[in-house]
Amino acid sequence: MKKALKKIVALCLCIALLASATLFNASAAEKKYTDCNGECQYYPTIIVPGLGQSNTWVVDDNGDYILDEEGNKVTSFPAYIELDKVIGRILVPALLSLVTQKDVGLTEAASDVINLIFGINTCDENAKTSKNVVTERYPYPASEYQDFEAEEVFGHVPFNLYETEQPYDHMYYFGYNSFGNHIDVVNELYDFIQMVKEQTGHDKINLVPLSQGASLVSALLDYKPDVHDDLHKIIFVVPAIDGSTIIGDVFNGRISFLNKEYLYNGFFGELGLLDKGTAALVEMLLRILPDEVITSALEAAVNTLVTDVMTTSTGMWALCPSGDYPTAAEKYLSSPEKASIKAQTDRYYQAQLNAHDNIQKLVDNGVQVFCFVEYNTPMINVGETWNSQNADYIIQTDSTSMGAHFANVGETLPEDYVQQNTHCDDPTHNHISPDRVVDASAGLLPDTTFYFEGQRHDLTARNDVILKLALNLIESDRIQDVYSLPEFPQFNGARSSEKLVILVEDAKKIDPSTLSAEDAAELAAAIAEAEKVIDNTIAIEGEVEASEARVTACLVKAGVMEAPEEGGVSLDIFTQISPWFYEKFGTEGYSELIITFTAKVLNTVVGTIISFF
Ligand SMILES: [Zn+2]
Ligand SMILES: [Zn+2]
Repeated sequence: MKKALKKIVALCLCIALLASATLFNASAAEKKYTDCNGECQYYPTIIVPGLGQSNTWVVDDNGDYILDEEGNKVTSFPAYIELDKVIGRILVPALLSLVTQKDVGLTEAASDVINLIFGINTCDENAKTSKNVVTERYPYPASEYQDFEAEEVFGHVPFNLYETEQPYDHMYYFGYNSFGNHIDVVNELYDFIQMVKEQTGHDKINLVPLSQGASLVSALLDYKPDVHDDLHKIIFVVPAIDGSTIIGDVFNGRISFLNKEYLYNGFFGELGLLDKGTAALVEMLLRILPDEVITSALEAAVNTLVTDVMTTSTGMWALCPSGDYPTAAEKYLSSPEKASIKAQTDRYYQAQLNAHDNIQKLVDNGVQVFCFVEYNTPMINVGETWNSQNADYIIQTDSTSMGAHFANVGETLPEDYVQQNTHCDDPTHNHISPDRVVDASAGLLPDTTFYFEGQRHDLTARNDVILKLALNLIESDRIQDVYSLPEFPQFNGARSSEKLVILVEDAKKIDPSTLSAEDAAELAAAIAEAEKVIDNTIAIEGEVEASEARVTACLVKAGVMEAPEEGGVSLDIFTQISPWFYEKFGTEGYSELIITFTAKVLNTVVGTIISFF
């Protein structure tokens, strides 16, 4: 007996020793990619990207990548589309419904198709993601990226396009699944920060959370308060600090296009993704089926997407505004089988309520916190509350600005409006935007928040000024607040200059000796003007487009570029026809409308005939 006990103790000791040796080796073996030993002036910086800005791949049950016809890995975001399966499921019900002008299994098929393509992102009862999705990770600095990794990372956040002092062995990118388990991803981010500290020898790092990435950082600050000591600076870029009302609306059943009066008259035109002619054409195409059939199929599709996919993901729940969370949680998470998910989302709800306090604590402890906000683009019109407050198309400004006060899009603050100074106590500061839309003093960080008027959230990466400002903040502490550098004022505009940068490169390749003296002079002047526009970090509306046109004209004249095509087929006519149909026939489909029309004609004819007698 004693012998046996001894053996067990010895065995346990052995296992413990082995385990600790392995652990010790693992941490000691953390590879170093820089020889600064943490002594250099740069802070290692981690970009925490936004929704869908990480690569997530579909794998089979053995963990092998699914490849497409060209041999490329297949993405799971936002969906995994196997076209043959989709067509196989929808084709027959669609044709039958079309022929009979009735719902012949179309609604059911719509729901199934949603499950077919988005089902890959459905999480289990503990909000764990599918084993058939793997996330591409980059556990080393940008200096170590292979070509495909550089392509992926810079494809999402093109900081490689602009000069920076920051060494690439101090730049990191945190890949995660946007539909992933939020708590797991937050823990991974915490471990990633510790790994970066180990790899670089620095004891403090910078975080750059973009959009959805801010929900991870909010959670991190709340769940792991010791991380405060690891931070030198946070640069929030259009952060989802308090979610997005798109999710708040969708999770509370406030979906604009399920109202057929809006679906057939305005929804597509206001969507911001189609030109007006195409939008009107889509409205007219809807009439190919009776309106009840269309709305029933749409309702089923949305219901499946929200119930079976989105509300199983705690990553999605972390994008629900705190004001919308309690009712949505009651609606989707009150059953016993959802208890585990609800415990997780309740925890995040607390972090969300504490977010401003947690950020204030950082500032009070000397961590520098900056924020970039975009405004004056209406929210995408998917949720019913889309035009009720200022937004950047994807997130309402109340969330990104941490509470600054805004007039709505297209409006200005009242004439007698007085700066609130909720968070600024310097009476010499003017935090009202020149366009009188924003009172930045009401936001949590009035002196370190930069505003970009008219900049659309989803086009942020194309705005060179935003990237240049972010790199400036990453590489040094020369910018302390919105008053530090006149080239980066608190209030700036929107622009997409990526194309102009490429045009100028092409223009510089032209040999001026092959041109007439006049053309050569114009080319030189156009290049000089473009470079001035690009170098100037104050965005002036229309300036980039004008410069693009001038450089393009030079390229065309020099014969290195074809003249841009004019227009093409115009669909503008539909912007007249679709509203006419709506006015005359409401939301009726063509078959119903023919019946209505025939009935009206018959009625008139019969009425006329009767009146003869
Ligand atoms: Zn260093
Ligand atoms: Zn101030």
